[in-house]
Amino acid sequence: METIYLSFLIIFFLSIGSFSSVIIYRLNLIAFTNARVNLFFPRSYCPSCKKNISIIYLIPLVGFLLQKGKCIHCNSSISFLYPLHELIHLLAGVSIYLIFNINVFSIFIYALFSIFYILFICDLQKLYLPFYLNLSISIIGLLSAYYGNIFYIDNFYVDDISQFTLSLSGFITGYLILWLINTIYKSLKEVDGIGGGDFILLAGIGSLVGPFAIAPIIFFGSLSTIFLVLLTRFKLTKTLPLGSGLIIGLFIYLFLKFYELSLFGLVI
Ligand SMILES: [Zn+2]
Repeated sequence: METIYLSFLIIFFLSIGSFSSVIIYRLNLIAFTNARVNLFFPRSYCPSCKKNISIIYLIPLVGFLLQKGKCIHCNSSISFLYPLHELIHLLAGVSIYLIFNINVFSIFIYALFSIFYILFICDLQKLYLPFYLNLSISIIGLLSAYYGNIFYIDNFYVDDISQFTLSLSGFITGYLILWLINTIYKSLKEVDGIGGGDFILLAGIGSLVGPFAIAPIIFFGSLSTIFLVLLTRFKLTKTLPLGSGLIIGLFIYLFLKFYELSLFGLVI
């Protein structure tokens, strides 16, 4: 019974990973080309020869291995990112399951993980944060704080303040800080320094973790952005993938908080 249960979970996590590939690929197509696609139409096809991919090859990981990483019609290589997205979703799912078991909290955490993951990849690849997916983080943050008891936002400084007020002030602070930095930058250089998608992303992060976490997340996020630029040899003339950096910043913050570690007194 336990084995069936575990196999079901593994297949579920891999399928979500596989679906995340579809979302990443198709959102990019919708944003940057005139292709007539949505998330469910047309059927999955090879980007190179446009032939449909048979059901058997759509099975996560197995499909990639059966095709030996190449399209069976035109022999062009299939990006290693497909199995990578699936494996990372599997790893994250199994870790969340082992730490938190299955409950409303862990389901929300996994959904948020997947949304952040897609945003991370889109921003890193194309400096693009899909609007509705980006906005969904704020909606989840504000609604979960309003209906209460799914996430807990720490409050170190003020007495008697509701979770929703903390979430809303995190949302506003996140948005305003980047907006302010950008406005100052723009007045000096006459171009935008930070994309509008980044404001919404940090607002969403703020709605989840509250206003007091924003400073450490910007700190870790900026360092991570520089690290990503060095790692991926991003052209420095372009805007930086600040969104991806902020997502890593959030992850570092939550990791330190969960294990009650502190760095230069920034997180406790
Ligand atoms: Zn092909």
